[in-house]
Amino acid sequence: MTGIYLDNNATTRVDPEVLAEMLPLFTQDFGNPSSMHGFGAAVGGKIEWARKQVQALLGAAHDSEVVFTSGGTESDNTAILSALEAYPKKKSIVTSVVEHPAVLALCDYLEKKRGYTVHRIAVDGKGDLDIDAYKAALSEDVAIVSIMWANNETGTIFPIEELAVLAKAVGAVFHTDAVQAVGKIPMKLADSAVDMLSLSGHKLHAPKGIGALYVKRGLRFRPMLRGGHQERSRRAGTENAPGIVGLGAAAQLALVHMQDENTRVKALRDKLEAAILEAVPNCFVTGNPANRLPNTANVAFEYIEGEAILLLLNEHGIAASSGSACTSGSLEPSHVMRAMGVPYTAAHGATRFSLSRETTEAEIDRVIAVVPGIIERLRSLSPYWAGAGAAPKAFAPTYA
Ligand code: PLP
Repeated sequence: MTGIYLDNNATTRVDPEVLAEMLPLFTQDFGNPSSMHGFGAAVGGKIEWARKQVQALLGAAHDSEVVFTSGGTESDNTAILSALEAYPKKKSIVTSVVEHPAVLALCDYLEKKRGYTVHRIAVDGKGDLDIDAYKAALSEDVAIVSIMWANNETGTIFPIEELAVLAKAVGAVFHTDAVQAVGKIPMKLADSAVDMLSLSGHKLHAPKGIGALYVKRGLRFRPMLRGGHQERSRRAGTENAPGIVGLGAAAQLALVHMQDENTRVKALRDKLEAAILEAVPNCFVTGNPANRLPNTANVAFEYIEGEAILLLLNEHGIAASSGSACTSGSLEPSHVMRAMGVPYTAAHGATRFSLSRETTEAEIDRVIAVVPGIIERLRSLSPYWAGAGAAPKAFAPTYA
């Protein structure tokens, strides 16, 4: 499949250098790392090399703080369930309304089926967390706080260090879902109050089905998967050695390219947004424009459906993503757009363009060239647009 791929927050292409590091693990270095022979030892050494690369990317103090998992969802579930088991007397959880379902669905389950109290902290129109509500929710009954580092839909970054320090002050474990942030913004967990952090390989040019959970040394930890002694008994199961080595190689590359993401990619993203805002009436950028991931642009186009935009973009060979999720046949705007109070007329047209270090200026220029025509065409067919009177007064986001 070729085309212009601007859906890197959904998944990224495996970097050919990553693949090259992985391939020998399938045919040559195929041993089981737990085996007491050379075949096993060769693989064990590569896994430890990969652990060090992830440690470096996170700025963690010890490589043993990195536990390999199957991805972001497993890491999120493991972190939350571990804290609840380690602190059985504490019955409250603090999270935010804009988390990924990997956290929200587990919290819903824990609330409904296990009797936990879940505090879901609200966000404002920019997607920033209500810090006063967060402080008010913290108490000694809180076993774990789980707040994402950066939002997958808007890219908005939360003040993780400040939140972690506040959580630690009441004795809660602090976990962050950093699946979208790792590899895009610098981290130094060695100097941080963060106890646990989730990351996922396929968001940073490693394959799907591999991820890691950072667990600070000394933290009380209870495994979710029991069985063998892999990962120091913190995650049982024969290691996904090719995936782990792929993640290690991807972490190494991410560290090298971090500057690139923050400058070249951000400049391309800003160019795309500015051009769209200039050429298209009645649209606005969602999220906090001053504090976002450098690769993410989420533009809400009023009076049209995101799905229709995606279909027409796809006809031009452009892959983007909609803020809406199709739930049981009815098209509801995403929980993130609703939480930010984006009006329905705009939330439905929210479209996410997520870039990567592979994105070129020529690709962005092509997207800039086709988007205005697509929006105009859809609006000419939209009863809402006609009903509102063509070019109605635009919704003004709270940060405008
Ligand atoms: N958390 C966030 C913020 C994500 O964006 C994603 C993936 O979209 C996940 C968790 C889940 O990660 P994985 O696909 O590795 O299970």
